[in-house]
Amino acid sequence: MDLVIQLAYLVASIFFIYGLKMLGSPKTARKGNLYSAIGMLMAIVFTLLDKNIITYEWIIIGLVVGSSIGVIFALKVKMTGMPQMVGLLNGFGGGASLLVALSEYYKLSNYAEGANIALQIPTNTGVSIVVSILIGSVTFTGSMIAFGKLQGLVTGKVVRYPLQHPFNALLLLLIIAAGAYIVINPASVDLLLLAVIVSLILGVLLVLPIGGADMPVAISLLNSYSGLAASATGFVLENNLLIIAGALVGASGIILTLIMCRGMNRSLMNVVMGGWASAGAAGPAVEGKEHKGDVKSVDAEELAMILDSASSVIIVPGYGMAVAQAQHAVRDLMNTLEKKGVNVRFAIHPVAGRMPGHMNVLLAEAQVPYDKLLAMEDINDDFPNTDVVIVIGANDVVNPAARSDPGSPIYGMPILNVDYAKTVVVNKRSLNVGYAGIGNDLFFNPNTLMYFGDAKEAITKLNNELKEL
Ligand code: NDP
Repeated sequence: MDLVIQLAYLVASIFFIYGLKMLGSPKTARKGNLYSAIGMLMAIVFTLLDKNIITYEWIIIGLVVGSSIGVIFALKVKMTGMPQMVGLLNGFGGGASLLVALSEYYKLSNYAEGANIALQIPTNTGVSIVVSILIGSVTFTGSMIAFGKLQGLVTGKVVRYPLQHPFNALLLLLIIAAGAYIVINPASVDLLLLAVIVSLILGVLLVLPIGGADMPVAISLLNSYSGLAASATGFVLENNLLIIAGALVGASGIILTLIMCRGMNRSLMNVVMGGWASAGAAGPAVEGKEHKGDVKSVDAEELAMILDSASSVIIVPGYGMAVAQAQHAVRDLMNTLEKKGVNVRFAIHPVAGRMPGHMNVLLAEAQVPYDKLLAMEDINDDFPNTDVVIVIGANDVVNPAARSDPGSPIYGMPILNVDYAKTVVVNKRSLNVGYAGIGNDLFFNPNTLMYFGDAKEAITKLNNELKEL
């Protein structure tokens, strides 16, 4: 039986790895998700066969309650709420690692019966237990704070206090020292519980300073931590599949974190130390800046006429399109333009929206063909040859200050060069800032036309006007 179970674990791991690989492209992502789910189902079924289960009652109750909550969340949570949902799930992962490792500690140490603990926990298991407990604790509270920040329950501002970093470093050193002591002297139950409490506090202190705008990056990092905690728990339970799955989550989480940092031209350190103080703030785009001239605004009718004579159009979606749920209206606009013989493509910035792949998921949901969605590096050189670019609810990812203003907080961030197109149309409700909290000179460029309004309403109206021409 053991061989069958180990083989099943191997097959499940292959499903996970293939599933992850398929998630790399929108074309195969759905299948990738399915493959990973099959791997997870196998993992659960064979784990239940693997262990000496005394009673299935509580397991079944847990499965039913957990699955019901999962289904409700999956159906109810909006795409724009996905980052905090992921944050919450990471926290549960970390919390589970903490609880499993703690219970394993009590089991192995025969704590309840007062046996000689020191003799009963081998060093390697002791290390795994301590690592699992400590990373699990930090991940749990850190993720809860991240969830709270994105949900508006905890302040989204950058929180700073005196001696913040030295204090956190001191806590970390204390935790590592306590962990090492516990491995050598497993009988130190009180010290273990103290280390858990300090780790829980450290999780809060590490995430609290990070601004709301950087929270998706923090969540991706916490995702990586939850994987590491799960992998350590795999060593505790001597479960190869958990070790592999945890390592996959740990590695993919850190890769995603680095991709997001690169997309914003920020170092991980800058994010973790509470980088963008103004992030998440809202205010007028022109605050503190002198602008020569006014913006030129157009209405739906004028814009429809401009588009009617265009032969190439690039649509740039951003966070505003997601909030307005305008993806279906945008798809209809694409169809109308294509019927008129216009070549329509989409330019997707790696950090457009509030999570990686945000725009791809929304547009795929609206049945926009994958081959129309082009990544920044594949389309950026095409803007000068494009008649009209329509920016829908995007701001920071098209801000030319990233190219030209060394004093700008986003200087150096790669952007979509929409201002190089013949005509740029920007649809948003006002001149307000985006998430980085900074003004955007694009709105004042001579070749820019502002098309004000909620993305869904404005694009629907534009589409209707266009159809009538
Ligand atoms: P931005 O946050 O820069 O701008 C969004 C704009 O949408 C706002 O200026 C707002 O202007 C407009 N808007 C809001 N609601 C509507 C609506 N109903 N209809 C039309 N427009 C609307 O978005 P971008 O996508 O350009 O940039 C993403 C930002 O998020 C970047 O700063 C990025 O670094 C950051 N970020 C992204 C992550 C990711 O993984 N994607 C992770 C972490 C951070 P107005 O109020 O005038 O309508």
